[in-house]
Amino acid sequence: MRSEALFKKAEKLLPGGVSSPVRAIKPYPFYTKSGKGGRIITEDDRELIDCCLGYGPLILGHAHDTIKDAIQKQLDRGWLYGTPAEQEIEMAERIIRDQPGVEMVRCVSSGSEATMAAIRLARGFTQKKKILKIEGGFHGAHDSVLIKAGSGATTLGIPDSAGIPVGVAEFTRQVPYNNPEALDQILSDDPDIAAFILEPVMGNIGPILPEENYLKDVRAITQEHGVLLIFDEVITGYRLGIGGAAQEYGITPDLTTLGKIIGGGLPIGAFGGRKDIMEMIAPAGPVYQAGTFSGNPLSLAAGIATIDYLNAHREEYHRAEERTRVIEESLPSSAEGSFVRTQSIFKYFFRSDPPSNYTEAKESDTNAFGVFWKAALQNGVFLPPAQYESNFLSFAHTDEDIETIAGVYHSCLP
Ligand SMILES: *Cc1c(COP(=O)(O)O)cnc(C)c1O
Repeated sequence: MRSEALFKKAEKLLPGGVSSPVRAIKPYPFYTKSGKGGRIITEDDRELIDCCLGYGPLILGHAHDTIKDAIQKQLDRGWLYGTPAEQEIEMAERIIRDQPGVEMVRCVSSGSEATMAAIRLARGFTQKKKILKIEGGFHGAHDSVLIKAGSGATTLGIPDSAGIPVGVAEFTRQVPYNNPEALDQILSDDPDIAAFILEPVMGNIGPILPEENYLKDVRAITQEHGVLLIFDEVITGYRLGIGGAAQEYGITPDLTTLGKIIGGGLPIGAFGGRKDIMEMIAPAGPVYQAGTFSGNPLSLAAGIATIDYLNAHREEYHRAEERTRVIEESLPSSAEGSFVRTQSIFKYFFRSDPPSNYTEAKESDTNAFGVFWKAALQNGVFLPPAQYESNFLSFAHTDEDIETIAGVYHSCLP
């Protein structure tokens, strides 16, 4: 197998053989040589239906013609200027039009960078030191969010990685998802919290959906305590619908972070929000943020084309949601786990009820997931290789792809 040989070589050159940990499938990951629509072709010449889709960005599938055209047009004009370019204005106009509460935008190069800067901005604006996040919530791989909760309902964080000083973790506090009482408690007890950052729909631990009124309560409680609310919509932005979770649930956060879909498959991030807050960013204000590749014209060209395509094909969201229903309905009657879906995001948890927070999600049988994952792959469907990564559908999957996926869920689940 070519993939096996490539991985043997990679192991000597790249730590763990990969460029990002989730890709390190045992005993070796398959390598991809091309992608088109809802499918990829591996270096071992297998064609697979892709439900990973770059971990979320590829809502239009691989190598979509419209996006390819936009990238090619931009290529002819160069791909980095180091000066302002019109594309950043066009991107900002679209985000401001589409995302509730966003009045100004800063373009960056990844979702991690967006959350890192949004957190600094919140601290600079409020002049408070701590941030509050959801237990198990993922906001990228930088120090202040790579923090795990200790035991107990509302806790101080402990570093989730070597190399993060305990002193940094002390500035990050945690609350369980779907628990407005715990949120109110911690904000009442701790006056030094600048912002509450959460994925409005948890996307990096399955999907976990907000209970009725949870996000409304979150908005009211943060407002009452003078704490900024940051919606991390890096997964949910343009995925749950044009206006992301904010629009879907009718909530206006103070700041929003975006990434993934808004780059059309190229590296990107952005954050935005209330004008009085955003104007604190350099050079308008004292909160420093900068980047060589910020507002990269190639990523912006792909992203703008994607956003325009999505706006012109809104009915596709409805169609994708129907298709996750088709997959859910294919589950065998023997299935004892729970199927969670929202829009084009879905996941089967090896746990009898859909989890409502991180602790419950962690009760899933990850060994059983591993067996199912392998069987799915053998049957031609590539699912993200972890119980706790969301599955995605693209708008490019064909009816036949959906039938195959549904068939896998029907026949490979215990
Ligand atoms: C993927 C993700 C990030 C990190 O984005 P990168 O582009 O990988 O840095 C941050 N927050 C959420 C919710 C994400 O899903």
